[in-house]
Amino acid sequence: MGSIRVGVNGYGTIGKRVADAIKLQPDMELVGVVKTKPDYSSMVANRYGINIYVPENALKKFEEKGVDPSGTIEDLLSRIDVVVDATPGGVGVTYKELYSKYGIKSIFQGGEKPEVATLSFNTLCNYEEALGKQSLRVVSCNTTALLRTLCALRGISRIKKVRATIVRRAADPKEVKKGPINAIVPNPPKIPSHHAIDVKTVLDIDIITMAVVVPTTLMHLHTVYVELESSITKSDIEELFANTPRVLLIDSSIGLKSTAELIELARDLGRKRNDIPELLIWQDSIEAKGTEVMWMHAVHQESIVVPENIDAIRAVAQLAHKASETIEVTDRTLGILRGRLTS
Ligand code: NAD
Repeated sequence: MGSIRVGVNGYGTIGKRVADAIKLQPDMELVGVVKTKPDYSSMVANRYGINIYVPENALKKFEEKGVDPSGTIEDLLSRIDVVVDATPGGVGVTYKELYSKYGIKSIFQGGEKPEVATLSFNTLCNYEEALGKQSLRVVSCNTTALLRTLCALRGISRIKKVRATIVRRAADPKEVKKGPINAIVPNPPKIPSHHAIDVKTVLDIDIITMAVVVPTTLMHLHTVYVELESSITKSDIEELFANTPRVLLIDSSIGLKSTAELIELARDLGRKRNDIPELLIWQDSIEAKGTEVMWMHAVHQESIVVPENIDAIRAVAQLAHKASETIEVTDRTLGILRGRLTS
């Protein structure tokens, strides 16, 4: 494997995690990240030894705050092979032309419309199809969670239909201006929610999702109902998920009954930023009845897409030719678990 030079545009919730993950890869070099404001995270990046690049018209603002950028955004783009765009939803598309001007490959996030990239991406579903593409869009946190399970299930039976309810966190922990703070809000009050449409950008199946927003910042929770073509037992599905990368079966009887306890577990395990990139499925929630399968899982929105971003870089740069190869490196370097947490 060669070493690929990568830059991250947007150093927020997703960007800072992807930047840290890139630094851990043996086949990638983090050249720098783009910051638009000289706030505390510029100081954090500096402490981690991460070079900062800024818009040309912001150079003075950074210098006034004592931050010494390594150059402008265009300087960064001229020094890299791949850019991971982690700017706010809808902003990434405004950079598309600039990325093309520098002839670099680009990875966008789920807040962008699917048309932003050549292909919407999930490692377990379409890694091989993504090889060498000019641009990819890593689908959103909720879609990534659903696709990890659905693409695993697809390996044992054709999926007839999926019905899922998404209980969404209201905001990320750092977001002080978002709500609700005392309400449950249908999101939107019509069906399907956009999550089903997003799943279909990767996997062509009959899926309907409904979503509500609740006043929490920790994690999302999904209840999922799937109808398969073949009959399956509860132990078949437990075995399948226990062997699926980036999926961890958890057991409520050991005190993991809520998203709050899951985040506490991440803290106790010393996970950086309390991150849980694994999809956590409550083993006790799994039910199978003939061709019907049901379960509940929890999604750490801030970190679940990080491994898929690393794989997306490997796919466009053709650093690994099979999903299993990139998963092995990404999951080992990021310390991602699979199997049963009880074992
Ligand atoms: P964020 O607001 O935390 O971070 C975005 C960063 O980009 C901020 O640091 C902001 O200052 C910076 N920025 C703003 N305008 C910019 C510009 N013009 N150029 C460069 N940088 C700019 O957002 P986020 O939550 O990290 O989301 C980024 C993307 O990831 C979105 O598409 C979002 O939908 C997607 N995503 C978010 C989550 C999540 O739960 N936060 C999960 C999965 C996917």
